[in-house]
Order: sequence, then structure tokens, then C-alpha cells
Amino acid sequence: MYIFRKVTDLQNHLNELRDAKQSIAFAPTMGALHNGHMSLVSKCNRIADITVSSIFVNPTQFNDKSDLEKYPRTVEKDTTMLIEHGCDVLFYPEVDEIYPKGTESDNNYDFGQLDKVLEGAHRQGHFAGVAQVVNRLLEIVEPNWIVMGQKDYQQTAIIRKLLSLTNSKTEIVVSPTIREKDGLAMSSRNVRLKEDERREAPTIYASLEAVRQAYKTISVKEARELAVKNIEASGSMKIDYLELVHPHTLQTITDWDDAESIIVCTAVHLGDVRLIDNISIP
Ligand code: AMP
Repeated sequence: MYIFRKVTDLQNHLNELRDAKQSIAFAPTMGALHNGHMSLVSKCNRIADITVSSIFVNPTQFNDKSDLEKYPRTVEKDTTMLIEHGCDVLFYPEVDEIYPKGTESDNNYDFGQLDKVLEGAHRQGHFAGVAQVVNRLLEIVEPNWIVMGQKDYQQTAIIRKLLSLTNSKTEIVVSPTIREKDGLAMSSRNVRLKEDERREAPTIYASLEAVRQAYKTISVKEARELAVKNIEASGSMKIDYLELVHPHTLQTITDWDDAESIIVCTAVHLGDVRLIDNISIP
């Protein structure tokens, strides 16, 4: 695996590959890699000749400074995992390399309602930061495909919109959420859970699944309340939001027939860790 820390070195390498008619799939990450990330690498391997991944903890998408400081960093282990899973190129830049003119953004994308709801309503400026870094990374890597996880469902909707707003030639591919055996969605933040919190955490996914079980047997409102009650019953979790939304607009639905498929999404505080998850139903 080639590892590049400088934009120009990476670009020289990728230009040679493109000249040799190699297609490129790109999976951006913030490191602290787990099998969820590795599933993106495997997807890249299947769809393209060359798999590029990046590790960059993007400061502009953290609304909470202590979350940024506490974000786990395990680059040596990450590198080994990427090699083992057949990643061809790792881009691991410093902040200055991504933002040579500073972290202030010149672009103000109009995502309509997509960035106003769910995570957007709870994390001020988060998606502006995500759009800023993904746009910059795409400008550098120019991949045929960007591969992202369903785990961050709203993020995939935002990036799909970004690609259309910027007339990008890159296509987005969304890959399913990888879970621990007990259902907890894999996340870099899971390592920060204390033992008792880790035992509670699978309740999040179980509560989303309870909505699937209730699909069309009770009202949307009742199904939502059921899931909320399930999570709150633990006593240790605080819900930021739990919503049933339209898969494209992300607007809350009130009737099962408002959409053919529905995304049930939630964000939960467990101790000082904030976890998100979602499922698509039916
Ligand atoms: P992150 O490093 O958390 O910014 O995530 C980098 C990419 O990995 C994003 O596209 C995430 O959606 C994806 N990802 C994170 N966790 C999972 C998971 N459990 N299953 C699938 N994809 C994931």
C-alpha cells in the first residue's frame, strides 16, 4: 500500500494510474478503523481497479471541541488493517495540507431541508464541515466513486446533493451498516464506552428493530413512542432525536404510507459518548 501525506505526491501517483486507464474508488474516514470501514474498502475493491482511503480527523465538522480532542487516533493499527484488506493507497494528510488557506470555508452550499433536521438540528455547522472536507478530498482524489456507509444515512443524503450541486463526475455508492454480534452499529466512538455502557448500547438497535416489527400494525406515532420508551427504560441513555423519516427528503412521516420505505434514525447520549444509528424499513 502506498501512503501519501502530501496532496501533490498523491495526485502524481493517481494521475499515472488514470493514464493507465485504472478506475478509482475512494472511502474517506477519520481513522480508528473497524470492520465497518473495512466493508467500505472491500466494496471499493469490488467496484474499481484502485482503492483509495483517507484518514483525516476533520476539525471543521466537530461542533463539540472536546469530541474532537477525544476522538480516538490509532493510525498504526489502521494502516495494518488497510493493508490486510487490500487497500492500494492511503492518504493521511496534516490539517494544513487539506486547508492551506485556513479552515474558513468560501462555499455555502444550499442543502435545502436536508441539513436542517436530525443531526443538522443538533450539531450546528456539522454538515457544512462535512461538505467542506468531502469537497476538498474529491477535488484532490477525483475518484470515479465515493463509497460511504449507511450508518451515517443523513451524511450520504448530503453528499449525494453536494455531488449534484457541484456537477461532480463522482458517483456515490452507499454500503450497509456493519454491526457487532449484539446489534450495536460499529463506530470509532464505541471504544470510549465504559463496560456497563457497552452492555446497554445494543438497546439502541433493538429499539429501531422494534419499529420494524411494529410496521403497519400500530400507528407511526405509537411505533415511535415504543422505541423511545425502550431506549429510555435503560435509565442511562438520553435521546437527542428518534424519528421516522422519508428516505429522500428526511422529513418526518406521520403515516406508514407517506413513503415506500422509511428510515428510522436516532442519536443517543450514553455516558459522554454520542451514538447514532438507523435502519431502513420495511
Ligand atoms: P468515520 O470514520 O466515522 O467518519 O466514517 C467513515 C466512513 O465509514 C463513513 O462513510 C461511515 O458511514 C462509514 N462507517 C462508519 N461506521 C460504519 C459501519 N458500522 N458500517 C458501515 N459503514 C460505516
